[in-house]
Amino acid sequence: MDTYDSVLDAIGSTPLIRLTRIAPPGGAPVYAKAEFFNPGGSVKDRAALSMVRAARDAGTLVPGGRIVEGTSGNTGIGLAVVAAQLGHPLTVVVPDKTSGEKIAALKAYGADVLVTAGGVPSDHPEHVRQLARRIADETGGWLADQYDNPANPAAHREYTGPELWAQTGGRLTHFVAGVGTGGTISGTGGYLKQVSDGRVRVIGADPEYSVYGGGDGSPYFVEAIGHYVHPETREDQWPLSYHREVVDEFERIGDRESILAARRLAREEGLLAGGSAGTALAAALRVAARLGPDDLVVVLLPDTGRGYLSKYFDDDWLRRNGFLEEPEGATVGAAIG
Ligand code: PMP
Repeated sequence: MDTYDSVLDAIGSTPLIRLTRIAPPGGAPVYAKAEFFNPGGSVKDRAALSMVRAARDAGTLVPGGRIVEGTSGNTGIGLAVVAAQLGHPLTVVVPDKTSGEKIAALKAYGADVLVTAGGVPSDHPEHVRQLARRIADETGGWLADQYDNPANPAAHREYTGPELWAQTGGRLTHFVAGVGTGGTISGTGGYLKQVSDGRVRVIGADPEYSVYGGGDGSPYFVEAIGHYVHPETREDQWPLSYHREVVDEFERIGDRESILAARRLAREEGLLAGGSAGTALAAALRVAARLGPDDLVVVLLPDTGRGYLSKYFDDDWLRRNGFLEEPEGATVGAAIG
């Protein structure tokens, strides 16, 4: 058993777990990189630690200096874990649709939370990222800027990729992950391609309407992945954390398929993960079904399903949003299955 000097050393080295019940029979074995084992509950602990360490090394974040980020999700929690342990004050700017639980969690770690208008254009002064930038300027704080910070993909090139290569003994042939900032897929996929001399194929799991995989930019439910601000979004505005040459192909997955996959993962494998994990899993199952037993598919599960109990795992929510057309009392597994 390992003993850690601090919570920071408990970030990463997450388990790789074989999915024995939902992998397609006769297809490739599927293993899940369970990132919800990180202390903050998501893959973003890795990027948070990497970005803070790089900024401290570069002197742009001084000891005791303020950290600022605009995010509705896991990056805020990851930064909160790291900021608490290293003694940095943290301001997180969140859009007004952010759940009360997430805001409460940020506050529990001691972060200052500022709520701003969601759904405003990205150049609007009240937009999450613009407001975060202004607060950083005004307070002399350091803006983490996960979308354009090279330390985000670097975390995965340095740790997530090598962990997977070691955990599979170099037998991994296909890597499947969602694309939010792009840090996970670019860093992990980039490393795996390099170490395998280009043999590993990297598959992006993208919401059906996201523009990364060629969608039209219409809205969708699954959070934290994809890009949906089309038609404003041009390729030259895509995040610098996303290295598009790393991704060989996209599987486009609708909300319903993502939600069903997340629910199956909990019920059939005992792994409670979020909606973007469902998207990635649905893509991985498609890929594995096309392959054989000599291949090895790894799918990355970004966060815990605890943050979505009142959404994807709640029958009333499913019904209200049209994912469940059965009468009251019918079981959801049957209805959307
Ligand atoms: N899923 C969830 C739940 C996330 O929080 C994130 C991070 N935004 C992602 C997927 C995508 O990861 P990345 O930003 O590294 O592309």
